Amino acid sequence: MVDTTTQQNINKQLFQKLELAYFCVDHSMVVKDVSSNLSQYGFTDVCEGGNIEDFVDFMVGLDSHTEIDLPLVASPSGIPISVSLLPSEEQLTVLIANASVQAEQRQKLQQQANENELLVYQQKKLMAELERASAELERKNLQLEEASRLQTSFLSGVSHEFRTPLTSIIGYTNLVRKDLRHVSEQMVPRIAKTDDSQSYLRAVQRSSKHLLSLVENLLDHGKLDSNEIVIRPKRTDIAEVFEDAAILLHPLSTTKNIEFEVETNFSSPAFAVTDDSRLRQCLINLVGNAIKFTDTGSVTLSVDWKDDILDVAIRDTGPGISEEDLQKIRLPFWQAADTGKAGTGLGLTITERLIEMMGGELRIESKLGEGTHVHFALPMPAAPEGDSPVEQTNAEAVPLKLLLVEDDSDIADLVWMMLSERGVDVVHVANGALALDALNDDSFDIVLMDIHMPIMSGYDAIQELRARGDETPVVVMSASAMEADREKAELLGCQAYLTKPVDVDDIMNIADAVLSS
Ligand code: ADP
Repeated sequence: MVDTTTQQNINKQLFQKLELAYFCVDHSMVVKDVSSNLSQYGFTDVCEGGNIEDFVDFMVGLDSHTEIDLPLVASPSGIPISVSLLPSEEQLTVLIANASVQAEQRQKLQQQANENELLVYQQKKLMAELERASAELERKNLQLEEASRLQTSFLSGVSHEFRTPLTSIIGYTNLVRKDLRHVSEQMVPRIAKTDDSQSYLRAVQRSSKHLLSLVENLLDHGKLDSNEIVIRPKRTDIAEVFEDAAILLHPLSTTKNIEFEVETNFSSPAFAVTDDSRLRQCLINLVGNAIKFTDTGSVTLSVDWKDDILDVAIRDTGPGISEEDLQKIRLPFWQAADTGKAGTGLGLTITERLIEMMGGELRIESKLGEGTHVHFALPMPAAPEGDSPVEQTNAEAVPLKLLLVEDDSDIADLVWMMLSERGVDVVHVANGALALDALNDDSFDIVLMDIHMPIMSGYDAIQELRARGDETPVVVMSASAMEADREKAELLGCQAYLTKPVDVDDIMNIADAVLSS
């Protein structure tokens, strides 16, 4: 128990600390008692016997029987005060305490709340800006995608327009060269003139092939940009892929009088699972570069296939590449200055991306004056035993009956001549509707179908054919190299898709494969 003196002391200290003042009024609000320090809060006129509502504003209208706490009130002196109304039977005691500390705290809290509000406002503003920026980014992305789509569709259009006449130029040049060889054998006295013509025709052929490779590179580049290229692994005799590439590239090295050697640790057949056409494309680009840039010495292509990895190395004794240029050669359209060699600067860009898509990495080591070493390794699992390669059928024993559907008469004549030379019985019609009529009237072993034709397109004709229940094998022969067209043909149930210019050997091989499957 605290004794009375101690209690009085505590009360005194509390009084001092809170700077307590008071006044008492009866229930008619007449002042009965006033503390001496009340004036420090500016209530100077309060005197006993007077009505408190005349002296103290906050007392006006208050009920003298109700207990009330007014936490923060402005006093006439300007000091913030807290007021407690403590009613009893006889009177109402009003306690007044200095509330500067609470007021200050409240002000701080208010300030903090204001600052928080400001922060929330700024955060909202930033979020709105972020949203605006991300919407803008999205819009730009859509624009870019649209631009890239337009670029691809433009390139595919250009490529289509180029391929069709090039098919004629390359094919007919070939035929004329064959004819000339025949003439030179028979007309010995005019042989010199025929030789000239042969070399002119070779020049035409070279230029057309170059033009074709430019178009193909441009198209591939556009397709890589818009993720249009798909890797299609399938059972492939990789020895054959390397042989094909070597056969194609040997004449280039012979013309330049440089040696070209191929070293492999496997022989045909060597069945692996890979995309043969993309692998061939990489080899032709890289070995093609090595031969193109090497003027003396040799080019070696070494291939090692073991433990499901295909290791390819191409070494040349060409001019080499400076350290500075090595950083740039993979950039699209980049070419070293003054090489004097034709090209687009796209070969390495495309090859690198294709190798990456097939799971490998392209490495190029070179020093100026010391030749170039290009290397890549690809995962290459052996193909499971199964379908053996298609045996060549005896086309001569049973002539193949082929329906050629092609609106371009030059190309139709060319394909007709090339296939007829191989003993194929070819019937030609110029659009899809005529093809349907022909297939109604007669039966064919195979249909070679162009896609873009007047009256009825190839796609419509194939769709109609399949709807009729006619399962005659169809090989598409189109100038479009777009993945979407290839996929559409596959969906419609076509057996193969060839891009123009078509090679007669490809047609024969596909026909053999289709007919013996
Ligand atoms: P292109 O051969 O069409 O010019 P590429 O993308 O294939 O385009 O090559 C880019 C450039 O890299 C070439 O123009 C050439 O300057 C350089 N280059 C590529 N391969 C070799 C090589 N084997 N030797 C020397 N330079 C090369």
